Amino acid sequence: MIKENLAAIHKRAAGATLIAVSKTFGVECVREALDAGQRVFGENRVQEAKSKFADLRAEYSDIELHMIGALQSNKAVDAVELFDVIQTLDRPSLAEALAKAVIKTGRHPRLYMEINIGEEPQKAGIAPDKAEDFLNYCRGIGLQVSGLMCIPPQDKDPTPFFLRMRELKDGLSLPHLSMGMSADFEAAINCGATEVRVGSAIFGSRII
Ligand SMILES: *Cc1c(COP(=O)(O)O)cnc(C)c1O
Repeated sequence: MIKENLAAIHKRAAGATLIAVSKTFGVECVREALDAGQRVFGENRVQEAKSKFADLRAEYSDIELHMIGALQSNKAVDAVELFDVIQTLDRPSLAEALAKAVIKTGRHPRLYMEINIGEEPQKAGIAPDKAEDFLNYCRGIGLQVSGLMCIPPQDKDPTPFFLRMRELKDGLSLPHLSMGMSADFEAAINCGATEVRVGSAIFGSRII
């Protein structure tokens, strides 16, 4: 089923990179996706991603692994060692930890700023009107930031939020824009997403 789902989603997501979000799904599901040719994956926990992908990476040299979950500063070194892209740069303390981790490991994952596009108090992310300041701050401490990501408010039409993200991304001249999930990735692509993060539409519904 994963193979068929992937084929269908790839068709609908043409023009954007499809990140297969494998969080909570076992290594056998990841293998099914790999067999179908999928190479770009998203995970939301460092430890879970490490246990699933450490061996697979030795087997498949072209896997691209994205961190899409909240990242604790004390896991910055592990994250920089494991991930090719970290999408959840959301605060100065994490930026500092990542800057140190980059120096310590010599690895340079792509970094995206997470934007709290709905300005929801319970959500992580940089407020849209603070994005430019935060980008400059990150650059000032030696971090290269190349994209934006967002999770729009759950029960609203995502399109206005996606459009605002597109404006922000263009205003900051960043190449990558990660937005859109199983329910709304086509709308996100229509608004300029360069990457979509799709989990349940590929792997099935998550139990946890
Ligand atoms: C789980 C998750 C996704 C995938 O969600 P689906 O609705 O299953 O496609 C995308 N982005 C983030 C940040 C996630 O945590």
